[in-house]
Amino acid sequence: MPDAFEAELIVATDAVVRAAAVCDAIQGKVGASVLEKRDRSPVTVADYCSQALICRALTEALPGDPIVAEEDADDLRAPAMASLRERIFAELSASAAAPSDLSAARVLELIALGTAPANPDRFWTLDPVDGTKGFLRGQHYAIALALIVGGEVVLGALACPKLAWGPHTGTVLTAVRGHGAFGAPLHDPSARTPIRVSPQDEARWVRTCESVESGHSNHGASAQMGQHLGIEADPVRLDSQAKYGVVARGDAELYLRLPTRPDYDEKIWDHAAGCVVVQEAGGRVTDALGAPLDFSRGRTLSANRGVVASNDVLHDSVLKALAHVGMR
Ligand code: AMP
Ligand code: MG
Repeated sequence: MPDAFEAELIVATDAVVRAAAVCDAIQGKVGASVLEKRDRSPVTVADYCSQALICRALTEALPGDPIVAEEDADDLRAPAMASLRERIFAELSASAAAPSDLSAARVLELIALGTAPANPDRFWTLDPVDGTKGFLRGQHYAIALALIVGGEVVLGALACPKLAWGPHTGTVLTAVRGHGAFGAPLHDPSARTPIRVSPQDEARWVRTCESVESGHSNHGASAQMGQHLGIEADPVRLDSQAKYGVVARGDAELYLRLPTRPDYDEKIWDHAAGCVVVQEAGGRVTDALGAPLDFSRGRTLSANRGVVASNDVLHDSVLKALAHVGMR
């Protein structure tokens, strides 16, 4: 009987849901003017608030568990960053989702907890705001938290504030290895139901998703692959690991992330949570060459190139088609 990681699942789910509430409030304040000015600071505020909250939840409930997160607090400590530090503290102080006993100094300490090395036997990996560019555009983003034990992702919690769950806006997806994948509306994570990948096995009906950003995934190569396989619909583009969520719950058969340059190593926090959610929903995740994602190599998936997540039945034919168009 595999470990159900029950305590960890409760802590992780609650943490990503709370972080999503803070991010959602910040995203709501970010107007179109910010995008025009290319001012990155509002997203930075959300990143840091999310990381502080999740590190706090983990360290309280599971003290000593290392956390490998995308952000660190070094830049924030500079005198020139005083106003940003104040905004982070103000957002957390104003949020009902944050604990009321946080000091400004404690917030920095919490953010800095996310800088553990990624090589112990057991650690968490966190992307506090995955899909930054989507967040800034008012579109999809995710809060992605996963537990890695012995180089394997054993638990994932993925909050997708812009992904619909029935009539509601906001979805939380969770999975524990060997125990299935579940989805729930973000406002009521306890109302979780099992999710399953699509049974579709005919290539022509395949629904594909990929990054909005052409710098993150090779759109031309995915179009060629689709054409070769006979996929009729154009890919749907959305930011963040919400793409894994869409495949896991059967709203798409395929998530393609094809390298745009040879030297880019995917980050573990961009894939860990989504990967276990898709696998536990019955799907399959490999790199573009068909190798399993190797989470045992530190902060990046340095042994892998690109990512293919599918409903499993179509996976082999997609890999073959990728080979045909020169992706392997
Ligand atoms: P997405 O929203 O799926 O486009 O992915 C967002 C993530 O892409 C960010 O969290 C970055 O870590 C990651 N990223 C940045 N540059 C690249 C790149 N050249 N190739 C693939 N992913 C990238
Ligand atoms: Mg990311």
